[in-house]
Amino acid sequence: MAKDYYAILGVDKNASDEEIKKAFRKLALQYHPDRNPGNKEAEEKFKEINEAYQVLSDPQKRAQYDQFGTADFNGQGFDYSNFGGFGGFEGFGGFGDIFGDIFGDFFGGSRKQKTGPQRGADLEYTLNLSFEEAAFGAKKDVEIFRHETCDTCHGTGAKPGTSPRTCDKCHGTGQMKIERRTPFGSFVSITTCDRCHGEGKIVDSPCSICGGKGKVRKKKIISVNIPAGVDSGMTIPLRGEGEPGVRGGPAGDLYLHINVRPHKIFKRQGSDIYCTIPVSITKATLGGEITVPTLEGEEKYNLPEGTQPGTIIRLKGKGIPKLRSSVRGDLYFEVKVEVPKKLTERQRELLKKLAEEFGETAPEKKSFVDKFKDAFGV
Ligand SMILES: [Zn+2]
Ligand SMILES: [Zn+2]
Repeated sequence: MAKDYYAILGVDKNASDEEIKKAFRKLALQYHPDRNPGNKEAEEKFKEINEAYQVLSDPQKRAQYDQFGTADFNGQGFDYSNFGGFGGFEGFGGFGDIFGDIFGDFFGGSRKQKTGPQRGADLEYTLNLSFEEAAFGAKKDVEIFRHETCDTCHGTGAKPGTSPRTCDKCHGTGQMKIERRTPFGSFVSITTCDRCHGEGKIVDSPCSICGGKGKVRKKKIISVNIPAGVDSGMTIPLRGEGEPGVRGGPAGDLYLHINVRPHKIFKRQGSDIYCTIPVSITKATLGGEITVPTLEGEEKYNLPEGTQPGTIIRLKGKGIPKLRSSVRGDLYFEVKVEVPKKLTERQRELLKKLAEEFGETAPEKKSFVDKFKDAFGV
């Protein structure tokens, strides 16, 4: 079965070119390998999004796809050869056309020469929260590891007392010009300097603490204010708290993926919470005060006379605060009527009397199977 490119981009079959472009841009930003380093799933998704966009953004391919359900005549699936190398996403050059068009310089230096400022990598961590912390918000200290300027060499990478010298091959530019002569004329291409690897500087005696990198990996505690109402699957972005940039580039971001631990009593759905409350058969029948657990502690509730098993009762505003709002969800509890399994002699007598009062015959000792056999003579 051919892939549904419209579904992949999350657009309607009648979507305009603009809508398709917008949807692609949004998804591509989300799943871009720069933002999901080492995430195979995101990489696959990213490929798929690109595949869909390649077809749907081209009027001819799109028309063909709409008609035949495929965009290539060989029926061999999608031809990735146009994409350049996908291995580890080094070869983003192949995307030059689409990405150049759509993103401009958004992804900055990563697709270009490895000189000049580069944005630092994003970091991702999972943040485990208790049910209550997620419900009411909390201040959490998150322990992360990231590279920071080396205190010993102050980021130069050179041993204290020495300093880096300007690269003699590229004269500090970090780039090399390579001139190639071809039958069509000569071409100049710019590549990263192979002596200084684009740094423009060479460290002869490296700092012993950072090994000449100028940066060391450090443990860092970051205080985060968790807003009330967060839930599993949400992500809190902390701009600029990722890895530092290179050569003056901006720092990456830190993404905290929320994971909420389950509650002993409550189940959560959005901002509403659910639980079951056992009620005795007499309380359900006669009505009366019961104790209901809430997120703030126990509360009394007056059960009406004749409450049926399975009745669901709503306590308005006793749920979880909606994110960035003063409104709270509701608490729902289901009445579970418990039938006593063991009775004292007196209780049995009283229930028998009650049964008679209801016009029933006293309960028999015969099992259902025996009665069934009697009735049908089997
Ligand atoms: Zn150092
Ligand atoms: Zn150089």
